[in-house]
Amino acid sequence: MRKFKTESKKLLDLMINSIYTNREIFLRELISNASDAVDKLYFKSLTDSSVQLDKDELEIRVAFDKDARTITVSDSGIGMTADEMEKNLGTIAHSGSEEFKDANDLASTDAADIIGKFGVGFYSAFMVAKEVRVVSRAYGSDDANVWESDGIEGYTIQPGERAQHGTDVILTLKDNTDDDDFDKYLSEYELRDLIHKYSNYVRYPIKMEVTKTREKPRPDDVPEDDEDYKPEYESYTEEETINSMIPIWKRRKSEVTDEEYNEFYKSTFHDFEDPLRTISVHAEGALEYDALLFIPGRQPYDLFSRDYEKGLALYSSNVLIMDKCADLLPDYYNFVKGIVDSSDLSLNISRETLQRNSQLRAIANKVEKKITSELEKMRDNARDDYESFFDNFGRSIKFGIYTSYGSKADELGGLLMFYSLKEQKYVTLDEYVEGMPEEQKDIYFAAGDSLDRLSKLPAVKTIRAKGFDVLMCTQDVDEFCMQAMRQWKEKDLKNVTSSDIDLASDDEKKVAEEATKDNEDLFKDMKEILGDNVTKVEVSATLKGAPAELTTTGPVSLEMERILSQNPSGQEVKSQRVLELNAEHPVFAKLKDAKEADDKTKLRLYTDLLYNQALLVAGMPIEDPNTFAEEICKLM
Ligand code: ADP
Repeated sequence: MRKFKTESKKLLDLMINSIYTNREIFLRELISNASDAVDKLYFKSLTDSSVQLDKDELEIRVAFDKDARTITVSDSGIGMTADEMEKNLGTIAHSGSEEFKDANDLASTDAADIIGKFGVGFYSAFMVAKEVRVVSRAYGSDDANVWESDGIEGYTIQPGERAQHGTDVILTLKDNTDDDDFDKYLSEYELRDLIHKYSNYVRYPIKMEVTKTREKPRPDDVPEDDEDYKPEYESYTEEETINSMIPIWKRRKSEVTDEEYNEFYKSTFHDFEDPLRTISVHAEGALEYDALLFIPGRQPYDLFSRDYEKGLALYSSNVLIMDKCADLLPDYYNFVKGIVDSSDLSLNISRETLQRNSQLRAIANKVEKKITSELEKMRDNARDDYESFFDNFGRSIKFGIYTSYGSKADELGGLLMFYSLKEQKYVTLDEYVEGMPEEQKDIYFAAGDSLDRLSKLPAVKTIRAKGFDVLMCTQDVDEFCMQAMRQWKEKDLKNVTSSDIDLASDDEKKVAEEATKDNEDLFKDMKEILGDNVTKVEVSATLKGAPAELTTTGPVSLEMERILSQNPSGQEVKSQRVLELNAEHPVFAKLKDAKEADDKTKLRLYTDLLYNQALLVAGMPIEDPNTFAEEICKLM
């Protein structure tokens, strides 16, 4: 018996006692080793004329034996000599080994972490097997050898038999325990499933015997037209290639039909609708990768739930590393589905190390740029599609701008669309700016839940009367997004109810200021009645029609206050409200009368009513609806 090297032993210890939830990856690891071994032989045949290969012989086989409780992964690859077995299987794999400077590093780290960090290839077999036998015959050699181990102390290597070059890895599964069912791997269905899941696009056929049923031939004495005849069935086994081999993402877009893409999308990402767009990328040069991305045609029901996981499937040379690599997609493109395959990435890369992987970051960058340019193209050339896209996923983009505190505004702002009151359709910010009359300085938007209500806001009417357009922000994230952007093409984005909107002429301003001054005492009383609800009461320079409106100073608008108050965290964010009055409205005269008559009850009543009315118009709840109702009754 030869002993394992210290670091290998520590790792094996971890494997054997692993509670790693992802044990099923053992099959992926073994198949990927098998595929590498076939690759090596294949490449040898390309450069070495003495190697004559029949390409049909290049294959991988998976088999199981229920009674013996074994799973066998075989390949017709390059095989190993006894020395190579000693070197390759006796010590922990090279990829990881350099990093284990100190074997003690291992003991202090948890198994999942190590498996993730270094990947352990062959040794992962010991997560499910109590004994592993490797029978191998190197290409060009007449001898075969058997490596055998229980993964604890050491291993043996002895001469053995194998008809052809290649390797069999035979796992004897661990005994079942109350917690762990290893027998589940002894099933055609399970193995097939694992092969599909992890190794579907391995370049060589992965073959397995599968059980099928067929109708037994009709006995000779039963006439063709005998209606009472019940056919009998029998089961038989047949070898089948389980994997699909050629990854669709490696193929040029021109070679694949839309239907093939759509079917692949639907079956892989469990959607029942075709994708809106399919993006196929083949990057060559310093950074080589293939990517196949899909923009779904509809919003997944859980997109905005906590459980939704964004990410792209990550493959390295056709072998799945991770089915949802979140680092490949920014949050604002969380709706994109797809696959990235890069042979430059090591197979054994964990979530932790991925983030630090510069290769992957570079790919993520490119993928992001590609998505952006595809969306821009759709926006410019297929407006209907884009609008449907935006209805489904515009929210993610707005969130992206908001959560990046506006740092993504330049990149993403061009993708935004809002409903234009003037055009009565979606417009982009650029289109809005293009349509601005020369005298218009800012971009105006109104925020609230209903288009109809917003279009009737006094402030909106004032702006429309000037001939300026107003963008309707009816999604809760809209205003937060606008605020994070602050500007678009050097034009300020302004909420129509912000008190710093400066649309009045000098004359109008002067008149309003004077009226405010003349009514100083009245406004002081009103402010007192309203308390902290408003910061001041004044005459509006622009308000027409309505008797009063609420505007806000500072960063929080009424709409933002309303949305934030619904936030379960319960944090209270108050807007700074200004009650603006229309001095020309008959109601204003009534207020003045009440003040002059020193009728405090009436003044309080009128002030309350005006304030609450303005709240309602602004789409805000009123604090005390009962009193408000009573007050109205009193007047009636
Ligand atoms: P890795 O695949 O990351 O190099 P493994 O622990 O999975 O590490 O395998 C160690 C080595 O054993 C491989 O590099 C390869 O040389 C050899 N090996 C494993 N499986 C096979 C196989 N089926 N055929 C030939 N060589 C193999």
